[in-house]
Amino acid sequence: MEADVASKIKDLREKIRYHENRYYVLDDPVISDQEFDSLIQELTELEEHHPDLITPDSPTQRVGGKPLDSFKKVRHSEQMLSLANAFSREELIDFSRRIYRQLDESEVVFIVEHKIDGLSAILKYENGLFVQGATRGNGIIGEDITANIKTIKTVPLKLSEEVDLEVRGEIYIGKEDFSRLNARRLENGESTFANPRNAAAGSVRQLDPAIAAARPLSLLTYSLVNVTGQTVETHFEALQLLQDLGFKVNWHQKCRDIEEAAVLCQEWTEKRDELPYEIDGMVIKINNLSQREELGATAKSPRWALAYKFPAKQKTTVVKYIVVSVGRTGALTPTAVLEPVEIDGSTVSRATLHNEDEIRKKDVRIGDHVLVQKAGDVIPEVVKVIKDKRTGEEQEFVMPHVCPECGGEVAREDGEAVSRCTNVTGCPAQIREGILHFVSRNAMNIEGVGPALIDQLLENDLIFDYADLYYLQKDDLVSLERMAEKSASNVLEAIEDSKERPLFRLVFALGIRHVGEGAARVLTEKYYSLDELRSASEEELMELEEIGPTIAESIRNFFNEPHNQQVIDKLKEAGVKMEEDGQEQTEKKLAGKVFVFTGSLDGYTRNQAKEIVLEMGGEVTSSVSNNTDYVVVGEKPGSKLDKANKLGVKTLSEAKFKELVGNK
Ligand code: AMP
Ligand code: ZN
Repeated sequence: MEADVASKIKDLREKIRYHENRYYVLDDPVISDQEFDSLIQELTELEEHHPDLITPDSPTQRVGGKPLDSFKKVRHSEQMLSLANAFSREELIDFSRRIYRQLDESEVVFIVEHKIDGLSAILKYENGLFVQGATRGNGIIGEDITANIKTIKTVPLKLSEEVDLEVRGEIYIGKEDFSRLNARRLENGESTFANPRNAAAGSVRQLDPAIAAARPLSLLTYSLVNVTGQTVETHFEALQLLQDLGFKVNWHQKCRDIEEAAVLCQEWTEKRDELPYEIDGMVIKINNLSQREELGATAKSPRWALAYKFPAKQKTTVVKYIVVSVGRTGALTPTAVLEPVEIDGSTVSRATLHNEDEIRKKDVRIGDHVLVQKAGDVIPEVVKVIKDKRTGEEQEFVMPHVCPECGGEVAREDGEAVSRCTNVTGCPAQIREGILHFVSRNAMNIEGVGPALIDQLLENDLIFDYADLYYLQKDDLVSLERMAEKSASNVLEAIEDSKERPLFRLVFALGIRHVGEGAARVLTEKYYSLDELRSASEEELMELEEIGPTIAESIRNFFNEPHNQQVIDKLKEAGVKMEEDGQEQTEKKLAGKVFVFTGSLDGYTRNQAKEIVLEMGGEVTSSVSNNTDYVVVGEKPGSKLDKANKLGVKTLSEAKFKELVGNK
């Protein structure tokens, strides 16, 4: 009996390991999430009944152990050096010249890699089992973060072969994971992280592995330090071996000379925003390991590698003043108005300060010199104050006690970082933002009704809330400045069309606090009409896995508010569709199809293209795998195109994509 169970457990673990590798390492799952979860559950149950059979390498043991009092110190088997830097093509060429001079050889192959902006770690395996993970520390002694590294899903707990090895890699948090993490923290009134690197560093240094487990850490390996029983002659082979053993390996490409490497560095300088993780440069390494040996190292860094650093996405400037704007939910958001600076090709003149606590924490004052950062498509942020430059003339910011838009009372709820205008139904800023949200693309998508028109309508008392849009007459519109007959008709038509949007769009459009698009979808999978949703109790709502107490309470409060009831009744009377009907099904032409986008499109933003695919029932992922059905190729495509060609995945030009989605 016991033997049967043991073999069943062994079987399950092998299966799970295989699927973990497919999912996390290869980005190419072959079973559904539910099937995977049920394997885990089966194993967990068996282990619960047979605790003696639990081993530390079991996939169920990623989060374990008590919080530590402090980290143990670890002496590295070999010093972890840093990398020499280069900032220009000339410096790359100098690097190559030095190498040729020292090596006395005509053939040198380079490997170019992404320089991931995280923190380095070293992982040790014995007999194929993960035994220890450490930070770099001062290069000689680091900290033992084994328990936290175990929680990272891309780290195999058991390798495909029983070797002893040491491997280095970078711990990081991906861009999407980072924005979700920060959004959640902001919502919970916690301070936000300045960038993914800080978030990763803070998470790795958690003494409680359960906290680390809740942070979306990833790890990519980039260097094999040593391994038993294998002969490895080049870095390229080493990376291949790591991949075969079950590691996720950093992007890399072979180059025959430094010119080729320089071209790659230039290309990635332009394309880096497309990657799902932040890179701050490229690393150029000599491929041949015996050549590396010959070159050796200086006290600080190896002579066989070089970090090519991208131009900074941070600059210093001055805070001219701080303005406060009022959002749809009444949140007062302070924004620094800056002396304009050019960062990474665009002019930055404003940076978000998030909320009062953030301002206090960073101690930003009016007149301060600050370091500003712009990364990807996110709103520029103040990273820190340059306190050395203070003259004493700087002024502290005071959060207004009344709403700058309506004079209403401002309150800050317990445990929240955000101050809000409490005049929910009467604050013009909240009403305006609420209407803007209602008509926005992911909500009711009413084209032609933008901020300018909404302002005009509000100023002329033609609307007081979003439901009033459906009662507008042509004369109302024509009476406005700069509004021709033709455009008035178009606007009315767009408003009329929007009455037929799927229910989840309407639920999202209502602007219920905490109910984003995702929650709206989840809700309408259970409630097929707004009336059903309107009468659901908090307890019922919380039966949905994704709906927690905060969202449930917020939904109830929203529907209990008499003003909101009136607005919804007005929507209903106007004929806005308030239930799910079979129609959406027929539109789902792309059901089951998986899309990946690379390069920039002419006629759509990434988000718009993604929305269209989702709306038509398809899926969008960020990396190409055998599961991908189409790769849509825009201007300046990235490595995803190479991968698509390698795997034989169908590629679409923008024109073909447009055709496929029916010219949307
Ligand atoms: P630096 O801290 O600027 O001296 O650069 C060295 C650091 O770059 C290493 O300690 C790693 O944390 C990091 N790094 C990121 N990507 C790579 C890579 N592909 N190869 C080597 N180091 C990398
Ligand atoms: Zn207000």
